Amino acid sequence: MESGTFLGLPNYDSPAELKALLETLGFAMQKKFGQNFLIDKKTREALVSFLDIREGTRVWEVGPGLGAMTVLFLEKRASLTAFEIDKGFISLLKKFFLENAKPDFILVEGDVQKNWFPHLKAHGKPDIFFGNLPYNIASEFISSTIEAGVIFDTMLFTVQKEAAERITASPNQKNYTAFSVLCSFFYDCKIVKTIPASAFWPQPNVESATVLFKAKKDFAEYKNYKLFIKIVKALFSSRRKNIKNNLGAWMKSNGYGDNTDPVLQKAGLDGNLRAESLTLYDFLRLSDIMSSLGQK
Ligand code: SAM
Repeated sequence: MESGTFLGLPNYDSPAELKALLETLGFAMQKKFGQNFLIDKKTREALVSFLDIREGTRVWEVGPGLGAMTVLFLEKRASLTAFEIDKGFISLLKKFFLENAKPDFILVEGDVQKNWFPHLKAHGKPDIFFGNLPYNIASEFISSTIEAGVIFDTMLFTVQKEAAERITASPNQKNYTAFSVLCSFFYDCKIVKTIPASAFWPQPNVESATVLFKAKKDFAEYKNYKLFIKIVKALFSSRRKNIKNNLGAWMKSNGYGDNTDPVLQKAGLDGNLRAESLTLYDFLRLSDIMSSLGQK
């Protein structure tokens, strides 16, 4: 599909034009859906440049909005599935792309948090999962895909800068959380771009950053991943407590008895440490040991 195939698209770099379009149609921006449009063409093109998109590459896009990124994917002849919740935007996306981009464009209407997994079951995984994510759901949404045990080959998500720093944090850094460990379990994660608030309309109060997630093959078949996730969350559950206290409380309430000391000893971990200083491999060792103990 050549550039220019899609007629009637607004000028995505012009807040005045986007505002006028929405006003004419009687659409209001919905704060609850984290709606900020990326109005900087160079940034949009830079995001696409991080991805290897060829004809037929299967791309999923979360929150296409008015289609500023969508059009770039479709121009490259990607096979695109977009998940959008806003009814007004959905009607515009249909008008802009559905007729002209058949059969390369599928629009899944509604909440991506509910729809992505059934869509995956029905149609399989995409090659690339992309989104300038609404800030309010970004971390929770990424976590939920990991907790479902689904690994995508490549994900490129723009999120609030602080969230990006949590995703990519290493042990002993102040932003290192359970979320950092979960992301590093399935993916190599790297911040590839920071984006100033001025690149969006309406301008958010925060900076954004784009994280490239590349699947690690190491743990794709790791059978204890559910237990691993529970242990990671348990050890971070109270940041002021050491790992002995957090693990002990979790073991007791989950039927593992009062075995904290032998478990920590076997894992070679000092109970006075805090979860912030544990590496991915420390958590993996703990979940393997716990799995071999079994629940009583
Ligand atoms: N992709 C556009 C861009 O970059 O200009 C818009 C990005 S805007 C930050 C987030 C988009 O996600 C909006 O279109 C919003 O309506 C949509 N959205 C918010 N919550 C959603 C959800 N739970 N499921 C699907 N789409 C959602």
